[in-house]
Amino acid sequence: MKQFMNFIGGEFVATTRTFENRAPVDNRVIGKVHEAGKDEVDAAVRAARAALTGEWGRMSVTRRVELLHAVADEINRRFDDFLAAEMADTGKPHALASHVDIPRGAANFKVFADIVKNVPTESFEMTTPDGGQAINYAVRSPLGVIGVVCPWNLPLLLMTWKVGPALACGNTVVVKPSEETPATATLLGEVMNAVGIPPGVYNVVHGFGPDSAGEFLTKHPGVDGITFTGETRTGEAIMGAAAKGVRPVSFELGGKNAGIVFADADFDKAVAGITRSAFENCGQVCLGTERVYVQRPIFEKFVAALKAKAEALKPGPSEEAGVGLGPLISREHQQKVLSYYDKAVKEGATVVTGGGVPKMAGALAEGHWVQPTIWTGLPETASVIREEIFGPCCHIAPFDTEEEAIALANATDYGLATTVWTENLGCAHRVARQVQVGICWVNSWFLRDLRTAFGGAKSSGIGREGGVHSLEFYTELRNVCIKL
Ligand code: NAD
Repeated sequence: MKQFMNFIGGEFVATTRTFENRAPVDNRVIGKVHEAGKDEVDAAVRAARAALTGEWGRMSVTRRVELLHAVADEINRRFDDFLAAEMADTGKPHALASHVDIPRGAANFKVFADIVKNVPTESFEMTTPDGGQAINYAVRSPLGVIGVVCPWNLPLLLMTWKVGPALACGNTVVVKPSEETPATATLLGEVMNAVGIPPGVYNVVHGFGPDSAGEFLTKHPGVDGITFTGETRTGEAIMGAAAKGVRPVSFELGGKNAGIVFADADFDKAVAGITRSAFENCGQVCLGTERVYVQRPIFEKFVAALKAKAEALKPGPSEEAGVGLGPLISREHQQKVLSYYDKAVKEGATVVTGGGVPKMAGALAEGHWVQPTIWTGLPETASVIREEIFGPCCHIAPFDTEEEAIALANATDYGLATTVWTENLGCAHRVARQVQVGICWVNSWFLRDLRTAFGGAKSSGIGREGGVHSLEFYTELRNVCIKL
């Protein structure tokens, strides 16, 4: 049985309180996670504080950049270990984890190290009232100890997306991985030690949210800023915790994203794109599409084509050939998604495909599987159109005009992402400027250039990360004014 321990000050720390880590594919117990209490969280924050004033705090940017490249190289050297850990924790297909989760997890260290190495600060000259001169220049300082609270859907990728820039900027971190996916954050501790990252720079505390490591960390007065990815409701709780001491937050929260398909779209590409955005990672992607709006002339044809694609997705364990759909993360999440499948029917949906649990053989029958599901015929007020489900499902509705499609896409409290499919350049630009989201993809989805801004509008987040935008959260600018 694997033991997932906390990583504090460069050492793996066991606790007496443990909880089970289960494999989503068959619900078997695969490990014991050592839950951090207040003492462990306090020790991790103190280790992170000490590292800020130690070797790490004094290190040149050049050396820091070298070390972060070494972290990425070591993740790639141990690619198979990270891949196995991520697949065991999430049950996601091998093709997805090996092409997205692990390589992007490693890349996050290199990309942000290079940005920090190359980004300039500002400088201004001024004349003074006495006829003299002064110069101003800005110095970037790390924010300090960063609390990093992570979700389970893309565990390594989303955690390093925060830890990469935080460390590149000279901060230290205490990471609270999701209770569902403790493995890769723990493994990263080994990598940090192997390449010589000083103790205390990267710390991991395991546990849950309320009255556990998540709450202890976000309420800890020694944490200077909190970066969080997860549900909007959790973000509200963390924001309350961060209010004490007026500590800054960076939030990437939930979504209820629209896909808009115009009649002039390249039909096959649009169908393939929405198949990915609705069903990839079993629908457990914050950027995923749960509301699809299709222009009326191609509506019936589109619904039939997406149905065929959904039915062709083969559910199965990560390593099995041809598998296109993994399980949901947990029994609890499976129950939540299935409750929405029931609600859709009760609210009058036409179930185009799916709506239940697929038949799985042997031990897999105990896994957290659900069928990819498509609905039509619901009013915009229906629960499955208003609320984030985070499963492999979408509702498809017809629209007539560009203005109508924009209004439908915007009629939500969320504002994370939209995917628009059209061959009309003018239409693409007009829609992209009017949808109230952090990211609008045109003829694509989840195509990420890490130098660009990422974040959510409305209830989908606060702040932007990515490229130089990450520096705005992970550093503080100090202006130095010199009278000549
Ligand atoms: P979640 O909010 O339930 O949990 C996220 C993390 O917060 C976990 O580590 C959890 O233990 C911790 N937590 C929970 N309550 C807490 C509290 N009171 N104080 C401190 N920590 C607490 O989210 P999840 O179920 O892990 O992830 C799915 C959600 O994340 C979805 O809503 C999805 O849209 C969102 N998400 C958003 C993005 C984005 O970039 N916007 C990316 C991925 C996931």
